Amino acid sequence: MKEERDVDRDHPIYFDHAATAPVCREAIEAMADALRRFGNPSSRYGYAREAARRVEEDRAAVAQAVGCTPDELYFTSCGTESDNWALRRGVELGRRKGKHIVTTAVEHAAVLETCRDLERQGYEVTYLRPDRAGRIGVEQLAAALRPDTVLVSMMLVNNETGTMLPVERCVRAVKAFDPGILFHCDGVQGFLKTPVPLARLGADLVAVSGHKVGAPKGIGALYIKKGVRLRPLLTGGGQEGGLRSGTEATAQIAAFAAAVRAVQADGDRLERTAAIKEYTLAKLEQTLPELEIVSAGDAPHICAVSLPGYKSEVVVRVLGDRGVCVSSGSACHKGKPSHVFAAMGLPKPWLDGMLRLSFSPASTREEADALVRALKDAAESLFTALS
Ligand code: PLP
Repeated sequence: MKEERDVDRDHPIYFDHAATAPVCREAIEAMADALRRFGNPSSRYGYAREAARRVEEDRAAVAQAVGCTPDELYFTSCGTESDNWALRRGVELGRRKGKHIVTTAVEHAAVLETCRDLERQGYEVTYLRPDRAGRIGVEQLAAALRPDTVLVSMMLVNNETGTMLPVERCVRAVKAFDPGILFHCDGVQGFLKTPVPLARLGADLVAVSGHKVGAPKGIGALYIKKGVRLRPLLTGGGQEGGLRSGTEATAQIAAFAAAVRAVQADGDRLERTAAIKEYTLAKLEQTLPELEIVSAGDAPHICAVSLPGYKSEVVVRVLGDRGVCVSSGSACHKGKPSHVFAAMGLPKPWLDGMLRLSFSPASTREEADALVRALKDAAESLFTALS
């Protein structure tokens, strides 16, 4: 029996940044400070007005990173809420025109399950299928558009493969076909992970989430392009310009803005993230000849590999026992085979052995070496156990 690494559960060797990122120091400090200033931004006295002022300052910081003006950015509770809002209210804007939606088969459950719900309400949804590399072509989307299409939803970066979908070109194709079709982009995995600010892609709506970029869980935002008259999903006290009721989560908002500022201050983060991923993939290929690189990922922080013949849930558990955190696919699947890899038409042994590795600019070569060693040991011990 090989000696196990001392498991330090507070500081695991973490290659699951696409599931959630560590909360950065700046976000923790901003959050603690905001928690001490407990005023409700809607109250009328000066103490609360200060809270309201800070929310607007934070909105400006996040909006700048999204590439939009502050009045185009609405805070929500998470990426899932932003996606739900965009889809459920977005389709209403085309009510007189039809009930056809186009999306892709590789979207996150936040979009797919919402589309399924809309199907139950009488909408028709076309799911564009990816090729074996997880790619979707502009022509594919153009061919799916119809006179009764009201909304297109396409993610920028796939959370399981790291593949980037051609959102900018697709927006152009959709608007050329019919400027009235609303374009929603799930930008959760692309936010601050690609050089282009998301609002510049041209979509009408873009969803982002705080916990993928160093903020705590429970904060997200939706960009709504000026002129798009989306109705609220949550009604109530009329916060967020009447479009998203609910007392502002001042501490989460402060942390979101602080995390965004900290990420932006790290100028070469994308290059460093891509470099550590490349290093890890090269080491894995050298050390584990049976390993298949399913997707090296266009985005710098995500890739997918497979150990055909192994069960990824078991591998993930064995690695976890050694303090190494990776994912067997989207954390939202809870043991079910990934719809993304299934849609790519991969052989079953590949599907069974799929692992998603996701990185941060702070990931080190030592951590990558430890991951490769742990994976090699896991494969050897599981192979012996099987034979
Ligand atoms: N969209 C994508 C592509 C994601 O990866 C995730 C989270 O994993 C979400 C949406 C949901 O975001 P949240 O966890 O903030 O609800």
